[in-house]
Amino acid sequence: MTTLLIRNAAVLVTMDDQRREIPGGGLYIRDGFIEKVGMAQELPSEADTVLDLHEQVVLPGLINTHHHFYQTLTRAVPAAQNANLFNWLKTLYPIWARMNPEDIFTSTQTALAELALSGCTTASDHLYLFPNGSKLDDEIAGAREVGLRLQASRGSMSLGESQGGLPPDSVVDSEDAILEDSVRLIERYHDAAPGAVVQIVLAPCSPFSVTGELMKQSARLARQYGVHLHTHLAETQDEEAFCQEKFGYRPVAYMQSVDWTGPDVWFAHSVHVSQPEVELYAHTGCGVAHCPSSNMRLASGIAPVLEYMRAGVKLGLGVDGSASNDGSHLLAEARQAMLLARLRAGQEGASLSAGDAPPLLTARQALELATRGGAAVLGRADIGSLEVGKCADFIAFDLNRLGYAGALSDPVAALLFCAPQEVDLNVVGGRVIVQGGRLLTVDLPRLVARHNRAAQRLLENG
Ligand SMILES: [Zn+2]
Repeated sequence: MTTLLIRNAAVLVTMDDQRREIPGGGLYIRDGFIEKVGMAQELPSEADTVLDLHEQVVLPGLINTHHHFYQTLTRAVPAAQNANLFNWLKTLYPIWARMNPEDIFTSTQTALAELALSGCTTASDHLYLFPNGSKLDDEIAGAREVGLRLQASRGSMSLGESQGGLPPDSVVDSEDAILEDSVRLIERYHDAAPGAVVQIVLAPCSPFSVTGELMKQSARLARQYGVHLHTHLAETQDEEAFCQEKFGYRPVAYMQSVDWTGPDVWFAHSVHVSQPEVELYAHTGCGVAHCPSSNMRLASGIAPVLEYMRAGVKLGLGVDGSASNDGSHLLAEARQAMLLARLRAGQEGASLSAGDAPPLLTARQALELATRGGAAVLGRADIGSLEVGKCADFIAFDLNRLGYAGALSDPVAALLFCAPQEVDLNVVGGRVIVQGGRLLTVDLPRLVARHNRAAQRLLENG
């Protein structure tokens, strides 16, 4: 048994049901789970490790609900800088088709290192290309070394260009092979217990890259094993037109037709949805991974965040793949969500009379999406808040720094309103991953050098 005591935080943000913020608060942790939450006098006075966090804001680790780690290899590629989604994909598919297993391993570590330093403790990733012998196992191996929790989504593409899909035939797989590999991965890696480090998710890529039959078979398999389902949905107007033409449905109705609604399903983006579709998500329990930077970068549109919140839809944040963001800074994504929701509210409130402010997403609401919201979207009751019995996943920011100078009247809001900073401390299941702002689990200079060599090779072999 090992114990860890955190005490005297400037403020401890619990994100519990009462949304308590405890000045001078702390945590007592045993074997990776929280045993006590409170002021120093309410906690044991000793532990194997004791961290005094005065001058630091402590909050639950942030949760990323949508990413494609491998895309860190193709950030800011000139030919894909100024394209919409479909053209961006067509430019990048052939480059991604050159990746090998080591590239998957390396890019996973790069993305997770960046996520860890930006406050993330649980990351969902969606890998849907397996060129040159690559497997989801390569990603899982890379993630284990970094130390964050991973929701590894077994993505897939089966509808190539010759069948009316978007991706070239060279990057799609047979549906039998996809389903067989899905079973293998679930049986090998999926851990349903509280505190799980790896969970498997089934994730056909999008309506325009798989068949309806693969969607149905994946849903059947996921429910047989009790794993979750994830895909891209209602991201762009092009996708909506594709679904209408090919399937005769809008994207959300198409999902209903292939058994993809329920509390075990979450969709990335969901920008172009009607009010009845928002309500359908709420009634059926579908979650949404909101990816504001990606939606802005690809000019996809502005998701109806306040409408989702009002309807009670489970809503989390995603940095999305690093070729459409191009950073994996989750705190920055929370800030972007706050700002973009305000812009939309302002546009919609244009008819308000002078002096009436439109409803604005607050800093605390944005932090809630990044913590509790993400946990709900991923279907994990063991993370997302600092409460007795939950995983000891938390982060801390030192307030005594340039970026927060003059903002100490509300240090919690300062995390979102000021320029996004990196964490000083990141702890996952009681294990310290980042301390003093330094990532302890991987050698960053060597990783960056390896990553840049791989990225260069992918572009040169065109
Ligand atoms: Zn995506």
